[in-house]
Amino acid sequence: MQDSLQKIKTDLENFKELEICHTCTQPVPGRGSEKAEIMFIGEAPGAEEDKQAKPFVGRSGKLLTQMLETAEIPDTKIYITNIVKYRPPSNRDPSSQEKKACLQFLLREINLIKPKIIAPLGRHSMDFFLPEALISQVRGTKIIQKTDWNIKQIFFPLYHPAVGLYNPSKREVMQSDMYNLAKILKTI
Ligand code: URA
Repeated sequence: MQDSLQKIKTDLENFKELEICHTCTQPVPGRGSEKAEIMFIGEAPGAEEDKQAKPFVGRSGKLLTQMLETAEIPDTKIYITNIVKYRPPSNRDPSSQEKKACLQFLLREINLIKPKIIAPLGRHSMDFFLPEALISQVRGTKIIQKTDWNIKQIFFPLYHPAVGLYNPSKREVMQSDMYNLAKILKTI
């Protein structure tokens, strides 16, 4: 049967293999356009995401939205999701077992949407795609890499928006990375 975002959502509701599937309020599937050109990938839902079943709707999400609007990247061009789809208790980092178990859902999202650009938000999601890279060195740069689904997948790693909350002096560089992402989007 053909896959769909709706089917992924249902499968996330039925998936019970991790402890966090039982401790969270509900799974948090991705949000955005199925025809998105950029896929932003965060780490795991926080409290507000867990409540609303939508990724990046808390404080980090508000900063991300603000940076996207400032760079004039329209909603129709983006899809936002996380590697881990269930909130880890007390916002602890997701474990490698949790990331591994949830990867199947992320790969299905990538396969359906086929984003021109994958923008990992922070080290945790970047590690899966670019394990050798350091976020502080590669953020804001275009990296073309062969993957199982695309021989020339474009990656554009960004600092996780939470960095801008805890360290406001980083906001300027984060916004400038977002402007560069908007520029690249216009050329591909
Ligand atoms: N941080 C994340 O990595 N993902 C969210 O959805 C919210 C905050």
